[in-house]
Amino acid sequence: MKMIFLGAPGAGKGTQAEIVSEKYAIPAISTGAIIREAIKNQTEMGKAAKQYTENGALVPDEVVIGIIKERLAADDCKNGFILDGFPRTVPQAEALEEMGVSIDLVVNIFVPDEKIVERMSGRRVCAKCGASYHTSFNPSKDGETCDKCGDKLTIRKDDAPEVVKSRLVTYHEQTQPLEDFYAKRGKLETVVGQERVEDTTSLTLALIEAKKQGR
Ligand code: AMP
Repeated sequence: MKMIFLGAPGAGKGTQAEIVSEKYAIPAISTGAIIREAIKNQTEMGKAAKQYTENGALVPDEVVIGIIKERLAADDCKNGFILDGFPRTVPQAEALEEMGVSIDLVVNIFVPDEKIVERMSGRRVCAKCGASYHTSFNPSKDGETCDKCGDKLTIRKDDAPEVVKSRLVTYHEQTQPLEDFYAKRGKLETVVGQERVEDTTSLTLALIEAKKQGR
């Protein structure tokens, strides 16, 4: 199954994408994680992306479209994938169609802005493997290190409150129009993000199973 997880920054796309990825043994592809890795490694792309990302702005379409084109050509995408954080603009969604990628389901995780700001303040990420946690809703076992690889958890620079606000503005202006884009194509399903990660997962899995069974 080829899926897109849509939703505001901090709505829980990444967390749900990781869970669904394990359950169905398909890769979860996060353009944000690929970009952060490139910034960390100071590649040409990373250097070009840094200033956008740190200000809560979007990296130019042609850069992320290039990243996705390359990633989707990999062998592990043959049986399906989850796109987490791509597309984020209508031109990116159009580019995906032009690549001949036919999406089965778009899961739109809805969380109101006030909740997003509250959630982002508790988000912690592993800089090494990219796993994401939350101090209240999804803590790592010891609260300080990553359950998966043991590295120290950190706060993302773009999770600072003023950057979160500009990321939300960017989301409403540039990404939310994708709800209409995919609704028109009959692909959009919305999940209301719940307090507990597992409750959002149950709703998400129910949608995926319904889609698989053609309901
Ligand atoms: P994320 O981890 O998905 O919240 O992404 C972190 C940051 O990476 C975003 O705020 C953008 O600066 C950049 N980014 C990730 N995905 C995209 C995309 N599809 N288009 C443009 N910029 C992106």
